[in-house]
Amino acid sequence: MQMNQHKANHGIIHPLLTDFSAKKHADLQFAEPEKIKQIQTRLFLQHLEYTLARSPFYKAKYAKNNIDITGIQSLEDIRHLPLTEKADLLDTHPLLCTDKKEIVDISLTSATSGSNPTLIPLTSSDLARLAYNEELAIAMTGVDETDTILICAALDRCFMAGIAYFLGGVKLSATMVRGGSGSAAQHWELIKLTQATVIVGVPSLMYKIGKHGRDNHGDPGAWGIKKLIAIGEPTKDANLNLLPIAQELESMWNAKIYSTYASSEMATTFCECEARSGGHTRPELIIVEILGDDDQPVKPGEKGEVVVTPLGVTGMPLIRFKTGDISYMIQGECVCKRTTQRLAPVIGRKNQMLKYKGTTVFPNAILAALEGDSRFYNGYIEAKKHPDGTDRIILYAALSGKEGSDTWIRQTLQAKIRVVPEIKRITREEADEKVYQFDKKRKRITFFDLR
Ligand SMILES: [Zn+2]
Repeated sequence: MQMNQHKANHGIIHPLLTDFSAKKHADLQFAEPEKIKQIQTRLFLQHLEYTLARSPFYKAKYAKNNIDITGIQSLEDIRHLPLTEKADLLDTHPLLCTDKKEIVDISLTSATSGSNPTLIPLTSSDLARLAYNEELAIAMTGVDETDTILICAALDRCFMAGIAYFLGGVKLSATMVRGGSGSAAQHWELIKLTQATVIVGVPSLMYKIGKHGRDNHGDPGAWGIKKLIAIGEPTKDANLNLLPIAQELESMWNAKIYSTYASSEMATTFCECEARSGGHTRPELIIVEILGDDDQPVKPGEKGEVVVTPLGVTGMPLIRFKTGDISYMIQGECVCKRTTQRLAPVIGRKNQMLKYKGTTVFPNAILAALEGDSRFYNGYIEAKKHPDGTDRIILYAALSGKEGSDTWIRQTLQAKIRVVPEIKRITREEADEKVYQFDKKRKRITFFDLR
């Protein structure tokens, strides 16, 4: 098949969503699974054809692996294609599928663990695709055009989530308030000034804003916020139970919290519906696979690495990108009657898995067990290797009060995750300095791997 060169040179837009109209395509979420599969298969084959016709990176990779995409006919055939690693994205140039003149925005991934950020160039079609995705995601939580949405995520510094939520909210005709990278006090003022009803942001920042309000202006629960859309940090454990921080946020704000899962590389958000039982995936925007340690698909419902193929991306399309996140697909139908697949909360990062006395644990599970307890202020985990090859896990914990023993920490961890690491107490200043060293406002870094 020959690509339409004229169309392609002007940034071919999504083969299904030519107008990115959420109204027109919202029904797809409720379609028969067989119909969804048909549509997704067509989009997948078009995505492959588009990417292989233009991406120097994939052309070289597929030639090296002797892969002829004419043999790829179905969604199941995706497993015959090579995987894309995060390291492959360090040099953006060979991945680009459009002329430089088609690029309208450059986003950067957040540099977690001190690594270099990845460059993600976007076309205008890619931005429209993001807006379509977020419009549907926000609407799925029950938010509509009567709501006023405060975005407490960076709209600058090349951050993708902030601009994506902004564009999606505008498309939904909600009233958008660009709080951006403001301080807790500034966000609080904005809530008062604009009478916001929804907050989009990282849970730890939502907590800071609420705490600022509570300490200085009275009960945040009386300020009219109805919904909290959480990005960037987990709000639920593997069994979909709210983490202590999320419970605290709900009672503090007298609002419902909705989890989302996204990354700049996959350029797609999975948001919970009002039933709040996992993030609904978007079949027209992404193919999600769950792979085991052998890079083969796990059995339905089993845990594994989330591997994504975002469909309809035109600037820097990816095929089978390994996210490094561990999760599983929730089985059965959602009570909202949507027929799309649901992804469970991310349990942890694959490369952060720790071995502890014959079991495995993720560093974020240790901190999540403590966060939301008013006695816990902040902290981080350090992993080292014991001479016998097992992992040594040290929790550096700063408590809210001056005194207090470690006993409750040990008891809490034993009860909630059955793992009690070494505990070292640090001051609040030491904790803040360490976890915010790379990024003052965007994301905390709470795991330091010295293995
Ligand atoms: Zn649902």
